[in-house]
Amino acid sequence: MIRTGDTICAPATASGGAIAVVRISGPESLVIAGKIFVPGGKKTGITAVAGNTILFGEIIEGPEVIDEVLVSVFRAPHSYTGEDSVEISCHGSSFIQKRILELFIRNGARPAKPGEFTQRAFLNGKMDLSQAEAVADLVKASGEASHRLAMNQMRGGFSAEILKLRDELLHFASLIELELDFGEEDVEFADRTELKKIVGKVSSVSGTLADSFLIGNAIKTGIPVAIVGKPNSGKSTLLNTLLLEEKAIVSEIPGTTRDVIEDTLIIKGIEYRFIDTAGLRETNDIIENLGIKKTREKIIQASVILLIDELNDEPDSINHRADNIREIIRGSGKKLILVINKSDTGTVSDAEELRAKIRLDDGESVIFISAREKTGIDELRDLLAAVVESDKLFNESVIITNIRHYEALIKVSDSLRRVMDGLDSGIPDDLIAIDIRQAIHYLGEITGEITTDEILGNIFRNFCIGK
Ligand code: GDP
Repeated sequence: MIRTGDTICAPATASGGAIAVVRISGPESLVIAGKIFVPGGKKTGITAVAGNTILFGEIIEGPEVIDEVLVSVFRAPHSYTGEDSVEISCHGSSFIQKRILELFIRNGARPAKPGEFTQRAFLNGKMDLSQAEAVADLVKASGEASHRLAMNQMRGGFSAEILKLRDELLHFASLIELELDFGEEDVEFADRTELKKIVGKVSSVSGTLADSFLIGNAIKTGIPVAIVGKPNSGKSTLLNTLLLEEKAIVSEIPGTTRDVIEDTLIIKGIEYRFIDTAGLRETNDIIENLGIKKTREKIIQASVILLIDELNDEPDSINHRADNIREIIRGSGKKLILVINKSDTGTVSDAEELRAKIRLDDGESVIFISAREKTGIDELRDLLAAVVESDKLFNESVIITNIRHYEALIKVSDSLRRVMDGLDSGIPDDLIAIDIRQAIHYLGEITGEITTDEILGNIFRNFCIGK
């Protein structure tokens, strides 16, 4: 059933484009829009046309024509919000948008709060909560991979998975509760071996999903990369080389500016974010070595660490510096890449000789580059890309990017662990039933079967106005 509230309006597009879209949604939206719009060529007006119709005409205030526009008319439930709604495509001047919004408001609409259109879509059952959250991610997505994840989530890939798990648990919860109803009669509707199998499966899927948050979140916000090494090894030169290339690529796209890509690189659709590069550029004045706190902090924040050494460095000291880093990152899943810079200062056989003396742990690589002569840079980019692609979770179709989902999944896993322990140690069924119910509850929180005003408020507050 479509809930009806008041009628809300807001600009739907960012300023600066040639065309802007102003939206109105709610029970009075067709009537309100109809009052300020005159269709061209004496055609039918907004209130008389069918849904999914586009009309051409003028926005007027009294005798004054404010703009020539296209109007898209949607009728409940076939609209984004599930309500009657109208989108006016006008010219992109903020003055025109403001006038249209003022007219809407004067005729009975009110300005929409951030995310209110999407909140209504959720309340009207047009999408579940995780899909609604994906809308916000989609608007913000800066790289191909973060876009792909948000799109998949918006289309319900993740929800389908969660709903399936929830259904399986619900089935068992009701069987166990049925048994409890029979009390003394010692009947067993819920096959315990089968229950264990299901609980095992659900907890393994929810565990994998929770694990995928690390990579999912990194893809959404950019993979954090730390460039570390002794002073003068060429860290700033390398950063400049990487970023300049990026700048060269990006500046071919009209309208992009240097500011936007400051200290980030996009490789194969994934964004990499260099940590504390301001610190890097100042390092010539500051004594920096691996012992100091700042480098350690950087390594802790990063998913990938580039350790920069020089071709003429002693193999022992390179190995020693690498060991220092390994000690910090042990067991954390962070990846170390050893970068030997200034390869232009020696021969190929110098490089091979050094390579033979460098110790590598599993999953690590060493690469020879010249940041100044720009050699080996493509290979370095490939190595950065491979770090993400080699993550076994990267190629899963469903990856968690949202901390709220992550926290709920952790609670699901905790509850299911208690169910498992309970089944093993033979604790009473009513206690097991409580834990199963709890797991079901947390799964429901993700998709929004279970919500509170607080959860909704937190989610939609982070949306932009007009979405
Ligand atoms: P940082 O202290 O690690 O940031 O090092 P810089 O990037 O400031 O570089 C220190 C010095 O090494 C500068 O004089 C650079 O020009 C030089 N340098 C950097 N990369 C290379 C390289 O690939 N080859 C050579 N020959 N010199 C380099």
